Amino acid sequence: MEISALQKIVRDRYFENDSKRGIYHTALWFHEEVGELSSAIASGNIENAKEEFADVLMWLLTMANIMNIDMEEIITTYLNNPGKLPAK
Ligand SMILES: [Mg+2]
Repeated sequence: MEISALQKIVRDRYFENDSKRGIYHTALWFHEEVGELSSAIASGNIENAKEEFADVLMWLLTMANIMNIDMEEIITTYLNNPGKLPAK
């Protein structure tokens, strides 16, 4: 699945409620999910970590939707700019 397709699914399913909640409170939810992912990783619970990876990605796309940011475009730009690539 492409990022744009996933972002559209998130937008179609959740945007109405997400936009009412707003970016600030959505960011709080996102941070909570990052914490849950960190805890799952630390505990070594792989099944729980899988769920939390999904939660984090979905909330990230939710924030992008609220801010009208096209993640497919952003990631393509990121990958095509060597200065933005993570160090190996
Ligand atoms: Mg979670």
